Amino acid sequence: MRLLIMGPPGAGKGTQAVGLAKLLGGAHISTGDIFRANVSQQTELGQAAQRYMDAGEYVPDEITNAMVKDRLAQEDARDAFILDGYPRTVDQVSTLDGILESLGTKLDGVIELVVDPEELIQRLLKRAETSGRADDTEEVIRHRQEVYTNETSPLIEIYGGRGLLIEVDGMGDADEVGRRIVDALPR
Ligand code: ADP
Repeated sequence: MRLLIMGPPGAGKGTQAVGLAKLLGGAHISTGDIFRANVSQQTELGQAAQRYMDAGEYVPDEITNAMVKDRLAQEDARDAFILDGYPRTVDQVSTLDGILESLGTKLDGVIELVVDPEELIQRLLKRAETSGRADDTEEVIRHRQEVYTNETSPLIEIYGGRGLLIEVDGMGDADEVGRRIVDALPR
């Protein structure tokens, strides 16, 4: 199965994507994780991405798109993957369409995790106490929510229009949310 998981920062995409990739046997592809690994290893890609990430801005599409194209071409992503944190802009949607077309595949579904805005801020502030992430300060957290609303929420409508959207209630504990996702998956 080839899936996307979407939702605002703090919705629990990463947690659910790891569980789903295990269950379905596909590659878990998190653009945030790939960027963070590159930042910590001080690669060229990391150096290009870091200042955007620290400010809670999106990394420019040309950088992100090229990275995802490479990643999706790898063997472990051939039959199944769960993309986490990509696409995040309308331009990235078109790029992904092109990548999948060139690979001769298509998406089976787009999971949207729905969580109350105030709950999101609380979760991220709590994560900030332990994550050590430079973008987990209250100001940057609020900014990331705004960027999501402006740049990424329009994607919900795009995938909804294609009949791919699977809305899942993301409130409550992670195991319960995981069960809701599995129940909602296309079969
Ligand atoms: P969160 O979901 O908590 O906002 P992620 O771990 O998915 O965080 O991403 C962290 C940061 O990495 C983002 O704020 C952004 O700067 C960068 N990033 C991740 N994915 C993308 C993407 N698809 N396009 C542009 N920037 C991205």
